[in-house]
Amino acid sequence: MNKNQPTNLAELTKAEIAKWLNGFDTVLTDCDGVLWHEGVAIDRVPEAVALLKSLGKEVYFVTNNGVKTGREIWKTATTIGYDIDESRIIAPIQAIAEYLQARNFRKKVYIVGSEAIRNGLAAAGIESFGPGPEVLQGTLNDYLAQHVATQETDDVGAVIVGFDEHFTFAKMLKASNYICSNSECLFLTTNLDTVHRYPEFRIPGTGALLAALETCVERKALQFGKPNAEICQQLIKSGKVLPERTLMIGDVCKVDVLFGHNCGFQTLLVGTGHNSVYELNEVLQNSSENPEFIPDFYVPSLGDITKLI
Ligand SMILES: [Mg+2]
Repeated sequence: MNKNQPTNLAELTKAEIAKWLNGFDTVLTDCDGVLWHEGVAIDRVPEAVALLKSLGKEVYFVTNNGVKTGREIWKTATTIGYDIDESRIIAPIQAIAEYLQARNFRKKVYIVGSEAIRNGLAAAGIESFGPGPEVLQGTLNDYLAQHVATQETDDVGAVIVGFDEHFTFAKMLKASNYICSNSECLFLTTNLDTVHRYPEFRIPGTGALLAALETCVERKALQFGKPNAEICQQLIKSGKVLPERTLMIGDVCKVDVLFGHNCGFQTLLVGTGHNSVYELNEVLQNSSENPEFIPDFYVPSLGDITKLI
């Protein structure tokens, strides 16, 4: 295999495809851009996932979606034709809730992020506040006196940052104050994705919002999304996932392929993401600098494997 160039599955013979299939037992796949777009299944991909399962592959869905709980993602998946167990969904909000439960967390959480984070934490019995609009009213000094000086910082044991379309200076101010008033305050994030729907748009991702806050508090948040290999260490330690026998499928080189690389998995990039092809070309042009972004395999759509196998 030439690691400077991914192998295009569409160009392999049936015998080579059979060999490729024999190279893994477990599949971890990203969701948005691989399985569906905006909650609509990508053509023939549900059939492709069913085919992989019928061949005995163990399939997990792994997403950086920080605006839906694991249960909501599972409901989307099953509604549009994916046969997957809820326990096979690896998602940041769930992972954060489990992390806090494992620490016997009893304080409140301040959320710079979505309502889904609050719902996910509530389902785990964890109290939180913060989602929704929050703007600075009046002068900065008025706001500091009324909303920051009076903050009950001891009650807040964690700040979680996720995708937040209501991200504001006021939220940054509150979050910074909670994090820095108490050295024990946990600082967590759902993911580090910096931009969405590029190149059509440049929608700031969680990583962009987080960078502002990290700069202010001079601390790095612990993150619960790809490319952090920690999110599937339990599966690896339990023996359910053997890294050398696992294939990671994704649509973003710098997130999904890097995650696969970090975990020691084989990687397959699909061309159905908003900028998969554009990004892959960029990555290949700079291949000597960041070989960890180069996938082992490429296929225009995961649905294509129904024709190749
Ligand atoms: Mg994706």
